Amino acid sequence: MPAAITKVSMLSTGNVAIRPQHVRGNGTPMLWWLLTSRRWTAPRPIDVYVIEHRDGLVLFDTGQDRASVTDPHFFPRGIVGFFYRRLARFAIGAGDTLTAQLAALGYRASDVTTAVLSHLHQDHIGGIAELPNAEIVVSAIDWAEIDRPGALLEGVMADHVRVPGVRYRPVDIPPVTDAAMDAAIAPFTHALDLRGDGSLLLLPTPGHSPGSMSLLVRAEGLAPLLLVGDLTYDVSLLAGEHVPGVSEKKGLLASTRAVLGLRERHPDLVVLAAHDPAASGLLAAAVASASAR
Ligand SMILES: [Zn+2]
Repeated sequence: MPAAITKVSMLSTGNVAIRPQHVRGNGTPMLWWLLTSRRWTAPRPIDVYVIEHRDGLVLFDTGQDRASVTDPHFFPRGIVGFFYRRLARFAIGAGDTLTAQLAALGYRASDVTTAVLSHLHQDHIGGIAELPNAEIVVSAIDWAEIDRPGALLEGVMADHVRVPGVRYRPVDIPPVTDAAMDAAIAPFTHALDLRGDGSLLLLPTPGHSPGSMSLLVRAEGLAPLLLVGDLTYDVSLLAGEHVPGVSEKKGLLASTRAVLGLRERHPDLVVLAAHDPAASGLLAAAVASASAR
């Protein structure tokens, strides 16, 4: 196991309430529940994972931009804007920005050398402009979709993605040929070794978006962590193969099964989602049992 990672922590850029049908699909079409739902979930985190790697600080996702609650022109206008307001309700205080949250953990935003985006939805890209020294790793599949008609309706605001000065690196995830790597990721067959040392492996988990990616974090002494973005909003639903009520169900199911297969081979695997209230406790427990070893 590589000893390249010294610390893993997380922060949240405010919180978001969504619809119960968003967390767990109930068979009704998204458009139906989006227009008729009267309930919101309790506030959920907007998590960013922070990984100290010996080559520099790595983030997985960058949270939601505070401008979304302070700038009346942040969201699209008209009917598309109406759908955005029906989908999610954000609360982001002055101390909830990515920069402020990193500072609370003892880091500067300028320390970040790499930020991996699980996908390009607003609540994952919000901090990109705050990271002057970071290369932003995105899926080449999702990158190719940002200007497609309909992308805005599906939650990708190209204007907020294509920020001047932000350095993007679109990546393809190649098939794995190395036997040791293959054993680490099976039943996945593709992985991108982000740092070339086996400590950070990007895995394809399409469904929430066509190019959605998860990050397998392998640190010495720590249980393997799988950061899954929005593949699920509640990891306790994974085992029953209950997938969210948004996005493409077939892809979500296939990726969920692959994650379950990985956990079968590595029973200590800790799955951490971006908006799961359980995530912070799961990470804290993994870190506590690592230091007890
Ligand atoms: Zn999303």
